[in-house]
Amino acid sequence: MTSSVPSLRIGNGYDIHRLVPGRPLILGGQQLEHPAGLGLDGHSDADVLVHAIMDALLGALSLGDIGKYFPPEDPQWKGADSLVLLEQVVALVKARGWCVVNVDAVLIAERPKLKPHIEAMRSAIALRIGVAPDQVGVKATTNEKLGPEGREEGISCQAVALLQAL
Ligand SMILES: [Zn+2]
Repeated sequence: MTSSVPSLRIGNGYDIHRLVPGRPLILGGQQLEHPAGLGLDGHSDADVLVHAIMDALLGALSLGDIGKYFPPEDPQWKGADSLVLLEQVVALVKARGWCVVNVDAVLIAERPKLKPHIEAMRSAIALRIGVAPDQVGVKATTNEKLGPEGREEGISCQAVALLQAL
C-alpha cells in the first residue's frame, strides 16, 4: 500500500502592522522611506512581508504561527531582524523533511511606491530561504484608499507557500 501522505503541502499567512511615526519602515529586509515619515510598529523590526511568509511556511506543516516560535513578550526578539527569523523557520521546515517550492506574497500599502524595491525584496528573501529569486513572488497593491491600509493606519501582507517532501 502506498503512503497516503501527500508529497506537497500548501500554507497561507497573513500579517498587519500599524504605521506610526518614529519607526523604520522595513519590508522584505529593505529600509524604505515613507513620504509621511511613518514606519511599522512592532516588537521585532515589524517586517510584515517576511512575517506573512514565515506564517505561510509554518502553516504548510501545521506548525502554528510565528508568535509560537518568537513570542512578542520574549525580550530576545526585540528589534529582531525578521530575515534571521525566516532562516530559522526554513531550518525548521528542512529539519522536518521539506523544501520550499515557491512562495508568493502581496503587500497592501497605500504608500510609498513599492515597485522600485520589489526585486531587492525578492532577492533578500530568496537568499534566506535558499531558493532562486524566481521562486519568490512579491507583489504590491494599494487598497484604493479603503480600509486601514487605505487610510495609512497600517500595512498588511498575504502570502502562500508550497512545500515539497525532500
Ligand atoms: Zn508581524
